[in-house]
Amino acid sequence: MDPYRPEIWGMNSDQFSAGVREGWGMECPKCKTADDIYVEATVTIRLYPGGHEAHLCAETIWNDTSPCHCGNCAFGGTAKDFKIPSTGEAPEQEGGRR
Ligand SMILES: [Zn+2]
Repeated sequence: MDPYRPEIWGMNSDQFSAGVREGWGMECPKCKTADDIYVEATVTIRLYPGGHEAHLCAETIWNDTSPCHCGNCAFGGTAKDFKIPSTGEAPEQEGGRR
């Protein structure tokens, strides 16, 4: 079972997509979907005699250079490639030197 599917969170695909876009500022640069983004991260797993499972309380580590792919169109790149470029200039800081 994949715990990150939209239906598990009680959202439809559009809500999920919007949530990822807003929360992470990421979407697929090719097909613009945000509800099927996968990032390769470093996770801690607990070993069992017959296998292992992710230790969900442990930190999940990933950054801009982590491999990232789109489950919708199979585009692959790094997490940075999936960051939505900010539109327009960053707002000017107030209180500059005079
Ligand atoms: Zn895509």
